[in-house]
Amino acid sequence: MTTEASADEMGLKIPGLYWQTPHLNWPIIIWFSVVHAVGLLGGLGYLVFIYCSLPTILLALGQYFFCHLSIRTGAHSLYSHRAFKAGVVFQSYVVIAFSAVFQDALIWWAARHRPHHTYTDKERDPHSILRGFWWAHMRWMLYKPVMPPAVLSYRDLVPDLMKNKFIWFQHKHARLIGVLVGFVAPTLIASLWGDPIGGFLVGGFLRLVFQYHGTWYINSVSHSVGPQPNEGNTSRNSPWWLMVPAAILTVGESVLHGKHHEVPWDFRIGTRWYHIDPGKWLIVACSWVGITWDLRRAEDPKGVTA
Ligand SMILES: [Zn+2]
Ligand SMILES: [Zn+2]
Repeated sequence: MTTEASADEMGLKIPGLYWQTPHLNWPIIIWFSVVHAVGLLGGLGYLVFIYCSLPTILLALGQYFFCHLSIRTGAHSLYSHRAFKAGVVFQSYVVIAFSAVFQDALIWWAARHRPHHTYTDKERDPHSILRGFWWAHMRWMLYKPVMPPAVLSYRDLVPDLMKNKFIWFQHKHARLIGVLVGFVAPTLIASLWGDPIGGFLVGGFLRLVFQYHGTWYINSVSHSVGPQPNEGNTSRNSPWWLMVPAAILTVGESVLHGKHHEVPWDFRIGTRWYHIDPGKWLIVACSWVGITWDLRRAEDPKGVTA
């Protein structure tokens, strides 16, 4: 593979790792620091000490689920695992909502997620839990990635996405759309009830803090806490006591992550009716009106009964 040859030849890899160089990725470190500082100190501080507006909190919650469902259904099931097919309407939703979670380009997300499944816990797993909880949670992103010319790498990793015009539109405009949807929109909407600062701090930054940890939870907690249905890797289903709160934070991704590793191409994460999996419900509802189709499901995934 191109990435391996290039990285080895240049001596760039951290020993034992495949995707990261030894060089800290300062723009990312500064960005994460700013988001956490403004979100937690500014957003929470504003709510507690200055102005706690119920409409602003509801706006932030609504935006959280609107955006997080695009990770669950779009970046994950649609583009990383091809678990179903979707047309213009659904893919446009994913482009708009996913950009506001500031997790880079959709194609980058899929190009890093597929090796997590193919090489779970091994050197080529970008965020192997065997390197530690915090490495899997977020440290893996704090180093500059090994990345030869992007198109070559993407051609190797996600060849099926190369001709998708939504993927490349989002790749080109991710930051602009992200700023508009993630920060400008909540500021303007909350100004309708006189709380633009709350919209910006709570709907923008505090929401984003939760959005990050709701995503990172899967790589860390869902690989270290809970019953382990697959003998060959560390992926886990949720323990009963985390089932509801974690499912809300991760919009269902955490419910049966062990089962997900067994059948990643199944559009469902939770397979039972009582599993909180709003991504599954959204994909099914969209199939009723014809904007998603060819939903793939495993009838008897091993992880369900483990
Ligand atoms: Zn996993
Ligand atoms: Zn997956």
